[in-house]
Amino acid sequence: MRMNGDWIALEERHTCGVYRKQPVVIVRGEGVRVWDTEGREYVDCATGHGVALLGHSHPRVVAAIQEQAGRIITCPETLYNDRRAELAAALVSLAPWAERVFLCNSGAEAVEAALKFARLVTRRPGIVAARNGFHGRTMGALSATWRPEYRRPFEPLVPGFTHVPYNSPDALEAAVGSETAAVILEVVQGEGGVYVGDGAYLRRVQELCRARGALLIVDEIQTGLGRTGRMLACEHHGLEPDMVCLAKGIAGGVPMGAVLLGPRVGKLPPAVHGSTFGGNPLACAAALATLGVLREEKLPERAAELGAFFLSRLREVRSPLIREVRGLGLMVGVELRQKARPYLRALLQRGVLALTAGPIVLRFLPPLVISREDLEEVARKLEEALTESPLSEDGDDG
Ligand SMILES: *Cc1c(COP(=O)(O)O)cnc(C)c1O
Repeated sequence: MRMNGDWIALEERHTCGVYRKQPVVIVRGEGVRVWDTEGREYVDCATGHGVALLGHSHPRVVAAIQEQAGRIITCPETLYNDRRAELAAALVSLAPWAERVFLCNSGAEAVEAALKFARLVTRRPGIVAARNGFHGRTMGALSATWRPEYRRPFEPLVPGFTHVPYNSPDALEAAVGSETAAVILEVVQGEGGVYVGDGAYLRRVQELCRARGALLIVDEIQTGLGRTGRMLACEHHGLEPDMVCLAKGIAGGVPMGAVLLGPRVGKLPPAVHGSTFGGNPLACAAALATLGVLREEKLPERAAELGAFFLSRLREVRSPLIREVRGLGLMVGVELRQKARPYLRALLQRGVLALTAGPIVLRFLPPLVISREDLEEVARKLEEALTESPLSEDGDDG
């Protein structure tokens, strides 16, 4: 029987190397837990960067995928499909302002589509994004992404993008003009460090966009679908953006992205955009099951309640290493006074998978079905990890 080390060597030998990996080989998942080849168990607070909203291999999602795989897997959007029709209606019903939806296969694709639609509809070139924002790694999405380390090797990027400080209304006011097609923002900046957006700021952004004829794109790829305690994080602040990007957990782990479109985008002309796999019946069936479980099990409400508990529990942790604990719902960051990555390793050794968000923030994105007891255990293990001297490790984040 092959052990962890063998699989790690095989994967290291043949994959391209762009990921900084944790030294564990996951072979199975159920609910909030995953297991490695040696039978070690982990509480998963990384969930593929927030993908497993319902936990791993939720029975309703598994059944939907199995059933749909036996019926039909692929069907392009140049033909109609029953599951897709149903899903499109379900997605549009997530927000009162949403009228239509574009379906694709990942977060970056959802952002690319939103950027293209903004230019198409406004006939303007400019995109305003935020410092510390993250929107994906393809050329357009990367142009909206802030971190210089991600951008620099690939310049020149798409022209027309500017970045302003997050939560600063004055900077935005100065940046949005008659050439601005759209402003793109997260309600809580995820990869950038778990920075929570200020409600008054976000409402001001929307007002400015309306006044100056620019569209507002809210990237809810990480915050969406219950993560922050509301089905869409926009609901916390009464936002009615022109487009909302979704992906990550939307289809229970099957790759899928979507862009909700409001009335200022409306119905688009044929052939301006598209995707071979977009709206495929397999992903649509998985997404329908996921949305059903989110709604029936009231998981956004659960995330609000458990998130409040987890935040206050983490704020009780007395460690000189902690600078700040912040978050919204079950999207939680612990900012340290030093590099976070060694503590990721210490958590792993204690059976907890977590993430970083930039160099000094530990990030927890547990499944929304996690129990209070499991969150208590995660908090206790973090306390332990922070009190022992960290293992040294190269690199600053994941
Ligand atoms: C993960 C993420 C993306 C990119 O999604 P991919 O599916 O990895 O392309 C974009 N925006 C936000 C806010 C994200 O968290």
